[in-house]
Amino acid sequence: MRIILLGPPGAGKGTQAKLIVKDYHILQLSTGDLLRENRRQATALGDKAQTYMDAGDLVPDSLVLDMVEVEFNKPELDAGYILDGFPRTCPQADGFDGLLKNMNLQLDHVLVLEVPDAELIRRLTARRTCPECGHIYNLIFNPPQSEGICDHDGVTLVHRSDDTEVTVQNRLKVYQEQTKPLIDHYEQQGLVRHIDGTGDVQAIYQRIRNVMK
Ligand code: ADP
Ligand code: ADP
Repeated sequence: MRIILLGPPGAGKGTQAKLIVKDYHILQLSTGDLLRENRRQATALGDKAQTYMDAGDLVPDSLVLDMVEVEFNKPELDAGYILDGFPRTCPQADGFDGLLKNMNLQLDHVLVLEVPDAELIRRLTARRTCPECGHIYNLIFNPPQSEGICDHDGVTLVHRSDDTEVTVQNRLKVYQEQTKPLIDHYEQQGLVRHIDGTGDVQAIYQRIRNVMK
């Protein structure tokens, strides 16, 4: 099974991807996580990506496409994957179409999570993540049991530097301008499934399961 999760920042892509991965035994590939890992390790790519990410702008397509091409060659992805945060622009979608064609593979679903902007800003400014296990928390909607500490491994949670209100506003604008057009791109391939991304996490996941039947 090969799935793309589309939706604005804060729509719940990471949260839902983790549930899908468990049930469908496929891997999650998040370009945001890969880029943050490059920054942590201070690779050449991480250094180049830093200013774009801090401003809430997109990292240039050529860098992202080179990065994912390496990932798609890994045998762990043979059983399928869920893409979270990629593709994000038309050139990335075209590049990915070419990659799939070369590998003789097809996509199964493009899930579009829909959430109003006001809710996205509320969710993102309160997002906290575990740098160790990747678990995603929210100070308002699903806080950890002890303040600032991951329930699973006791590690101190982090507030992403791009989850501030000003940067979030820019990321929402970037989504509208550069990523939303991809819905049309995949509508033409008959792959788009619209999902109401509001309400309880499990209820949203049930909607996803229903459309994937
Ligand atoms: P994305 O990967 O699309 O940016 P995340 O999965 O990281 O989104 O979710 C953004 C924030 O919103 C996180 O703090 C997460 O805990 C919270 N969140 C996710 N789903 C919901 C939901 N259905 N209701 C309320 N908050 C949610
Ligand atoms: P969100 O949780 O808001 O959806 P991500 O973790 O997916 O955010 O992305 C964080 C930042 O990483 C983006 O604002 C952008 O700078 C960069 N990024 C992630 N994926 C891509 C991509 N496919 N193309 C370009 N930039 C990306």
